[in-house]
Amino acid sequence: KVRVRFAPSPTGPLHIGGVRTALFNYLFAKKHGGDFVLRIEDTDQKRYVPGAEQYIIDALNWCGIPFDEGVGKDAGFGPYRQSERKHLYRQYADELIENGKAYYAFDTAEKLDFHRKDHEAKGKTFIYNWHNRLKLTNSLSLSADEVQKRIDAGEEYVIRFKSPEGVTVRLEDEIRGSIKIDSNTLDDKVLFKSDGMPTYHLANIVDDHLMEITHVIRGEEWLPSLALHQLLYDAFGWQAPKFAHLPLIMKPVGKGKLSKRDGDKMGFPVFPMEWKDPKTGDISRGYKEDGYLPEAVVNFLAFLGWNPGTEQELFSLEELVPAFDLSKVNKGGAKFDPDKTKWYQHQYLQKLDNSIISAQFSSILDEKGIKTEQNIENIVQMLKERATFISDFWELSSFFFQAPESYDEKASKKAWKEGTNELMQELISVIEGINDFSSENVTPTIKNWITSKEIGFGKVMMPLRLSLVGSLQGPDVFEIVSMLGKEESIDRIHNAIK
Ligand code: GLU
Repeated sequence: KVRVRFAPSPTGPLHIGGVRTALFNYLFAKKHGGDFVLRIEDTDQKRYVPGAEQYIIDALNWCGIPFDEGVGKDAGFGPYRQSERKHLYRQYADELIENGKAYYAFDTAEKLDFHRKDHEAKGKTFIYNWHNRLKLTNSLSLSADEVQKRIDAGEEYVIRFKSPEGVTVRLEDEIRGSIKIDSNTLDDKVLFKSDGMPTYHLANIVDDHLMEITHVIRGEEWLPSLALHQLLYDAFGWQAPKFAHLPLIMKPVGKGKLSKRDGDKMGFPVFPMEWKDPKTGDISRGYKEDGYLPEAVVNFLAFLGWNPGTEQELFSLEELVPAFDLSKVNKGGAKFDPDKTKWYQHQYLQKLDNSIISAQFSSILDEKGIKTEQNIENIVQMLKERATFISDFWELSSFFFQAPESYDEKASKKAWKEGTNELMQELISVIEGINDFSSENVTPTIKNWITSKEIGFGKVMMPLRLSLVGSLQGPDVFEIVSMLGKEESIDRIHNAIK
């Protein structure tokens, strides 16, 4: 059975890159009838941020991609927080030591620092590897008894992986194909730290194994760790899962990875939901609070590094599941496009039921203290195509609820010419004569009158629109007359006449 996991570290809010990783895992699991597991990788206590775990869970729920198994949903593979699995890891580190695949290292921080600086001075980079390990004060030159003595004496140590010398590590990636790595370029990564905690590498491999994960789908930033991970599986004699490394998400302009600052600069969020930093109190914007629909966010995230190979761009989550395929995930970085994001939001707003939009728009009106007899659903229907967010409706329609207090100056100049006052007076009497105020009646009545005057339509329509709206924008002007009704329309034209 397919089992995938999303394994974030709770070091801060989940950014959209993380949500994309979760989404691709979710889609892959659902497509293959498998399980989507959430594992919290919180072994690095220095980087732990309170609230981050809850944020991750809330964000997945908001996006509509809940996990099947994980914190609070134990399906027999728990606990799902690595901090609660602490007792499990040591035995695996010990096993590797016994097999000669790992070793104790007693190097002090000062000593390592010395080597680093020494290398730097010679224009080289210090790598703790097969070549250097024997020069260092590690246990490889000590007898087992001596090692034990030093440990018993309370000397600090770490457990390092003994990277093999001079072999070619062969790797397979579902997206990138075969990769070969020269083991001499690898360093002896720490597996177990002096604080009694495993590092990411050890805990990650042990847990993927114990949790019977079949496919590891994660960001490209973990590709450099793949060789070590493969070697660890080999060292344990375990079957490694299949790996797929997703392309990076790149800045909309320029080069490099998308960062929070790009969002701040260009005015778009990079987090699914608002996040308040518990230390600084700083607020980072979120797609949710900015008014995006989760369906739109999911759809644009799906297209960051994947495409169906057809022209279709709109996919509900249900449609994404069968369409999704790792073989259609790109290798190259995916450029983040905030305009496209808005395009998706616009599309999904159009699909949203008018009654849902109306209910939310009504609350906005309530908050503004607007009391109205207008039919909100009609207004929503009329303006929907121009709106991207529900919050846009106020700006698009405020004239329905409030008569203009001033008139756009440029528009005034354009609309109000000689003779316009008289024309508007005459229009008032035309409107006065209308009894059936449906737009089906209002429209031809006013149009016929304009035609009979043998003047251009603009001569009437522009000042009429300006009178009713205050600018030259807005939907069909006859619709507006019909919706405002006789009295209000006449009042507004009166007020506009100079
Ligand atoms: N804890 C790692 C992270 O924060 C997980 C990487 C992986 O999926 O192996 O991204």
